[in-house]
Amino acid sequence: MLIVKKFGGTSVANAERILNVANRLVESYKEGNKIVVVLSAQGDTTDDLIKKANEINSNASKREMDMLLSTGEQQSVALMAMAIQKLGYPAVSLNAFQCDIYSNSTYGNARIKSISTERISEELDKNNIVIITGFQGINRGGNVTTLGRGGSDTSAVALAAILNADLCEIYTDVDGVYTSDPRIVKKARKLSEISYDEMLELASLGAKVLHNRSVELAKKYNVNLVVRSSLTREEGTIVKEESTVEKMLVNGVAVDKDISRIALVGLKDQPGIAFNVFSLLAKNKISVDIILQSIGREDKKDISFTVSTADLNPALEVIEKNKNRFNYEKLLHDDKVAKVSIVGAGMATNSGVASTMFEALYDENINIKMISTSEIKISVLVTEKDAERAANAIHEKFRLDEIK
Ligand code: ASP
Ligand code: MG
Repeated sequence: MLIVKKFGGTSVANAERILNVANRLVESYKEGNKIVVVLSAQGDTTDDLIKKANEINSNASKREMDMLLSTGEQQSVALMAMAIQKLGYPAVSLNAFQCDIYSNSTYGNARIKSISTERISEELDKNNIVIITGFQGINRGGNVTTLGRGGSDTSAVALAAILNADLCEIYTDVDGVYTSDPRIVKKARKLSEISYDEMLELASLGAKVLHNRSVELAKKYNVNLVVRSSLTREEGTIVKEESTVEKMLVNGVAVDKDISRIALVGLKDQPGIAFNVFSLLAKNKISVDIILQSIGREDKKDISFTVSTADLNPALEVIEKNKNRFNYEKLLHDDKVAKVSIVGAGMATNSGVASTMFEALYDENINIKMISTSEIKISVLVTEKDAERAANAIHEKFRLDEIK
């Protein structure tokens, strides 16, 4: 089998962990597999490099930031090759330049455009374990780029897709994807499998197990993806097109506390207002999540929406600057809100899921401020202090702790 195995920063944080991973790689190699390894930077290396840059120039050019940040991954791959060689097995490390991982030019958030498999295949044919830097690419100008925080997952899935690997294993410090964040919901249970679409929803809902774009890529190229722990032997969670078993009604409950609500009260009730507000925000690269417009009264209406808390002040600023265009009476905001969502592929074909969720909240006397739904997701906005209680109540109501 050709297997791409990706190890995250905690899995290679120190010499002991690197040797532990090296041992596991050798084990799989001895079983006759061809192995491509993708690594992240060790532990907090990427954060530390950012700090270092800030000490010198807090406004450093993005090109130089990528030049700096990409070094973290380069350290990891060289160290891993040394560890494997020490165990007496052949290994070679390669960076993005050496295996032509081309990306576009967006420093700090580049997208992979093409990978040449020539060098990798050559090294595999020489029976090497091939260890490749995650997170980095090169652009057409011959500069180093990085793929965005957490981007090594995407490197691994892209490599698995282009190499037509039989399997792509993402090793991390948790042993799989859970029905909810175990720090919030004590009864959260590890899922044996989940669909790409559900995983995408969970990832964007703040379940930080996988880089979002890696799941998009896996779905596009139908990559066999597994999330599992590098520290235990537990079987992980398989991420695939569709559950073999019956589609689960609800597979996960996610909590996102990093959001805020903004309300424009007393807007003129006329065509074009929503378009103007949201195009202004889009132009300023502020993404909006849940939107609610009230029924108009007389000739006025209200629009409220949520943004990530990091975007709250920038959003308020651009709106205030354009007060004359919108003519609202009041601009309100609230950062003490949280979004609680349920995700499940079976939702689309089953009625009653929403009402069960709302009943769980009603039983707990938790007020819902906003609701939004999609095919496989229902989100509600609640007061931040109610969020954890809400997640637990919903988890309980759908009996997510029981293996079905
Ligand atoms: N080292 C990079 C980061 O910390 C990429 C990764 O870990 O996936 O974001
Ligand atoms: Mg990660």
